[in-house]
Amino acid sequence: MVENLNCLISAGPTREWIDPVRFISNPSSGKMGYALAKEAYIRNFNVKLISGPVTIPPIKGVDTTFVETSKEMYRAMLAEFYKADIVIMCAAVCDHRPKKIWREKIKKNVFPKSVEFEKTDDILYELGKNKQKNQKLIGFAAETENCENNAIDKLARKNLDWIALNDISKQGIGFQSDFNQLTLFSKNKRKVILELSSKQKLAKFLFDQIIK
Ligand code: C5P
Repeated sequence: MVENLNCLISAGPTREWIDPVRFISNPSSGKMGYALAKEAYIRNFNVKLISGPVTIPPIKGVDTTFVETSKEMYRAMLAEFYKADIVIMCAAVCDHRPKKIWREKIKKNVFPKSVEFEKTDDILYELGKNKQKNQKLIGFAAETENCENNAIDKLARKNLDWIALNDISKQGIGFQSDFNQLTLFSKNKRKVILELSSKQKLAKFLFDQIIK
């Protein structure tokens, strides 16, 4: 078994604030990312977990940094990236944030009819640009349509070694669930279907593939 690998994993959603009491986010529970971190820990890797806001208890023995916004996750991931042998970007990062953050709570009667959004930085894309030969970079693609093509496109565009496709249009898997079904695509054009299983089992199968 390969030991002493440095493994950097992101998990959970990000929150993008509108004012001190309102934010936009997504239903990511962080369960897949935490399962990956636990599996990496079981394999005796040095694990660094960058976690968005989740309700999962911290994993004993796993060095975890909690972040909230995509900007914080960006900084935390980039700061750790150079040390990592394996990087898995499992977090459901918000790809847009409000252009303006109100400093005070917006009163109901003056709440704007529309809020302008701007793109957040694509963390995985940045990591892909800076990836070194010895580093393996893995992304996730949560898709509802044209799933395989979208995933393969992201694999190339973000310079990944593997991408795990998660078809979130299927009922009972993905966001929030303890179960998932993943299809892995590699830059070497391999396609590996991981059947519906618990996220913990999938984490094991995923590492079995990427460590090979
Ligand atoms: O392009 P899309 O958001 O679908 O790509 C999903 C992958 O990119 C995931 O691995 C996710 O963690 C990552 N991502 C990111 N930064 C963003 C948006 C997504 O790292 N702003």
